Amino acid sequence: MSTSDERLARRASSELPETVNAADVTSWSDEVDVLVIGFGIAGGSAAVSAAAAGARVLVLERAAAAGGTSAMAGGHFYLGGGTAVQEATGHQDSPEEMYKYLVAVSRAPEHDKIRAYCEGSVEHFNWLEDLGFQFERSFYPGKIVVPPGTEGLSYTGNEKVWPYIEQAKPAPRGHSVPVPGELGGAAMVIDLLVKRADELGVEIRYETGATNLVVEDGSVVGVSWKHFTETGAIKAKAVIIAAGGFAMNPEMVAEHTPALGQKRRTKHHGEVEPYILGNPNDDGLGIRLGVSAGGVAKNLDQDVKAGKFREDLFYRLSVVTLRVPALKERRTDIPLLAEHFLATVLEREGHKQLTLSEESIRTLVAYSWPGNVRELESAIEYAVLHARGHEIAPEDLPEKLQSAQVRAAARSPLSALFEDLPSLDELERRYLLYILEVAGGNRTRAAEILRVDRRTLYRMIERYGIDSNGE
Ligand SMILES: Cc1cc2nc3c(=O)[nH]c(=O)nc-3n(C[C@H](O)[C@H](O)[C@H](O)COP(=O)(O)OP(=O)(O)OC[C@H]3O[C@@H](n4cnc5c(N)ncnc54)[C@H](O)[C@@H]3O)c2cc1C
Repeated sequence: MSTSDERLARRASSELPETVNAADVTSWSDEVDVLVIGFGIAGGSAAVSAAAAGARVLVLERAAAAGGTSAMAGGHFYLGGGTAVQEATGHQDSPEEMYKYLVAVSRAPEHDKIRAYCEGSVEHFNWLEDLGFQFERSFYPGKIVVPPGTEGLSYTGNEKVWPYIEQAKPAPRGHSVPVPGELGGAAMVIDLLVKRADELGVEIRYETGATNLVVEDGSVVGVSWKHFTETGAIKAKAVIIAAGGFAMNPEMVAEHTPALGQKRRTKHHGEVEPYILGNPNDDGLGIRLGVSAGGVAKNLDQDVKAGKFREDLFYRLSVVTLRVPALKERRTDIPLLAEHFLATVLEREGHKQLTLSEESIRTLVAYSWPGNVRELESAIEYAVLHARGHEIAPEDLPEKLQSAQVRAAARSPLSALFEDLPSLDELERRYLLYILEVAGGNRTRAAEILRVDRRTLYRMIERYGIDSNGE
C-alpha cells in the first residue's frame, strides 16, 4: 500500500487508537494548562474562554488553517431567552419558554443540559457579539432555514407549529450572522476567534494532529501528536477534544448512520450518489480518541451500533408518532420514512434488493394516512411481499392506495408542486423561478409572461433572494 493509501485506510477506519501510558513517554515537548484538539467553532471557543480565564492554552490543529467544518457553515445560531435582537425586533422570550420548547421537541431530553443552554443563552449571544460583530437587529417574517438577506432573526424551528405552540410560548430564535447565503457565514466568526485567541496568547500549532491520548491512573494527562514526520507528546492539566464529526469516514457512516452513505432516489434526478458535506478531517478520530480513554459516545449507542435503528431517523419517527399524528400534514417526511421502513424490512427478511419506483413514492405521498406512521410501515411490509420485480410499483401497494383519487393525485404533475404543502409565498417563488427558466433568464421576457412591469419583477426577485442565475 502506498503512503496515501495507508493514510486513507487510517482515515476510513473505525478502530480506536491505543492510549499511551504516561510512564512510556520519555520526554514532553510542552507542558500546558489546557490543550485543545481542533480549532473549529467548538475548539476556538474553548481555547478563548480558557485563555480569558488565565490558563496557558495550546491548540493542535491538523489542517493548515483554523475553521474545519465550522468555516463552511452558514452561521445560524439557535439563541433566545431575550437576546438583544429579539428585544430590538419586539419578540418577547424567556429562558423558561425556550426550555419548554426544546424539551418538547427532544425525544429524550437531558433537562439539566437544556436548562443550562437556555439560561446561558443571552450570555452566549453577548459573548459572540463581544468577539467583534453584530447580528443585524432585523427580523425575517416567515419560517425559513436561511433568511434570504442579512436579517438577524427568523423562525428556523417549529415553535409556531402545533403541538409545540401549545407547549411553549413561541419566539423566533434563529440568529444569523450578517452574511447572506447558506454557506460560509460562520467563517467570519472563526476569523474573529483566531484573532481573539491570538490577543489572549493562545498558541495554535497547525498541521499538527493529535494521534493518541496519554493516560495515567485512568486519567487523561496529555496527547501524542504528529507534524509531518515529527512526533511528540504534550502534558496538559486538561485536554479538550473538539475535533469535529465523522461524516467523511465511510466506515463510521456505514456503521452508525447507514442511510447517509447510501444512494438516494430523488424526484427530479433519479438515483443519486450519497451527498455528504463536511471537512476532510471529519473522520471521527476525535470521537475515537475520546472513546479510547473510556469516554461514552452517546449518540452511537448499542441499538444504533447493532444496525437496529438509525438514531436520527428514530428521533424524527418518535416525534412523528408521538407528537404529530397527522402524517398527511408532514408529507415531505413520507419518502424518507418509506425508504427507512423498506431498508428495515429488507434487512429483517434477508430479502433481495428492492427499491420504490418514482410513481409509488408519489402514490405514498398522495394518500391521506389515517393510521399515520404505523399504517405507512405496514403498507411497505405489504408491498415487499407483493412486489414482482426489483422495483415496488404502485400496484404492489395495499388496495386502499389504489383508489382512483389517490392514483390521479399521484399522476398529476401538478401535485408534485404541492406535495410539501408550500405557503403561497413559496409557491409564487417557485413559479417565478420556473418562468425565469422558461424565459432563458431574460427578465424582460419573464416580466411579459408574468404580465408585470420590470420593476415589479425586480422587486420579486429581490424579495425571494433569487440570484442572477435564477437560483
Ligand atoms: C454546509 C454546512 C452548513 C452548516 N451550517 C450550520 C449552521 O448554520 N448552524 C449550525 O449550528 N450548524 C451548521 N452546520 C453544522 C456545523 O458546521 C458543525 O456542527 C460545527 O461546525 C462543528 O464544529 P466543531 O468545532 O465541532 O468541528 P469543526 O468545525 O469540524 O472543527 C474541528 C477541527 O478539528 C480539526 N481536527 C480534526 N481531527 C484532528 C486531530 N486529530 N488533531 C488536531 N485537529 C484535528 C479539524 O481539522 C477541524 O479544524 C453546518 C454544516 C455544514 C456541513
